[in-house]
Amino acid sequence: MKAVVIHEHGDPSVLKYEDIETPSVGPNDVLINIKAVGLNHFDLDVRDGISGYFSLDMPHILGCEGAGVVAEVGSAVTAFKPGQHVLPYLTTSCGHCERCLSGHDNICMSFDKLGVTHWGTYAEYVRVSEHNVVAMPDGLSFVDAAATHVAFATAWELVEVHTKVRQGEFVLVNAAGSGVGSAAVQLANNAGGIVIATAGSGEKLERAKELGARYGINYNEESIEDGVMRITGGRGADVCIEMVGGRVLQESIRAVAHNGRLATCGAHAGEKVEIDMIEFFRKQLTMSGNHFSPKANNVQVLKLIADGAVKPVIAKTFPLQDMGDAHRFLASRNFFGKVVLEV
Ligand code: ZN
Repeated sequence: MKAVVIHEHGDPSVLKYEDIETPSVGPNDVLINIKAVGLNHFDLDVRDGISGYFSLDMPHILGCEGAGVVAEVGSAVTAFKPGQHVLPYLTTSCGHCERCLSGHDNICMSFDKLGVTHWGTYAEYVRVSEHNVVAMPDGLSFVDAAATHVAFATAWELVEVHTKVRQGEFVLVNAAGSGVGSAAVQLANNAGGIVIATAGSGEKLERAKELGARYGINYNEESIEDGVMRITGGRGADVCIEMVGGRVLQESIRAVAHNGRLATCGAHAGEKVEIDMIEFFRKQLTMSGNHFSPKANNVQVLKLIADGAVKPVIAKTFPLQDMGDAHRFLASRNFFGKVVLEV
């Protein structure tokens, strides 16, 4: 099969479009012919080898997100058949540990990760076990499905599960131009929240308003705290959806009102963050961490997208063989929404 393969860690030039053996199918496996690949900032870390907690066997195929058609199933597989439109699930879980049984297969006690611990979606074919395949609803395009998985399922977890946004609440959504951010703007707006989006340019804030944000804060022009206090009359936001870390998290904690709830799923702008714990407990804040999302959420958001209730924002599509350009584009952060490759 054709695939984008890495033989070593490094800059985008290590991504090589070449022929590699198609994975063979075991009794419980499903082989998916990938049609579209969703890119994530996480992919850049895996390529660079800076994610820290894993080492990869080379050659390796990156990619934790994609959509395609079932090409072949193992002898024991009953849930899927060739020709079906499906997504491989990013967190490959065991299905029977304590966390899987409680519905938290995203933090399975023996989880593997697509594109990290085994070959991912930057390829014509990907092999996963049948427990880690999600069926696509009818009428959904491969590009939209491939852009959904990480962004919308994660945003769902932050907005609906962790912070439980209620009608009329001020909801601060950071990095509104990112995949998770643009999804969180839509989900928080649908939940009845008054969305305050933050981004680094006026153009991105205008796009966020088209998706349902009521207010925008350009964090290159004013601090998040100042912006939120200006908008809320000095009260602060009820909820913060955070995925940036560093200074943005510090400013967000100051921008949240008493009894405020923050949920976070990322820290690319700073992993070690100093927090004023006096302020934190005096304001009775709650902050929860979130690592992607359980499979059930993915089924939920795919339905919402198929129904037209929310819409993935596709910043740009590339052909699979231009993965190096796609990685450079992703690193630039100079776009709004998701970057998708078509195979
Ligand atoms: Zn498990």
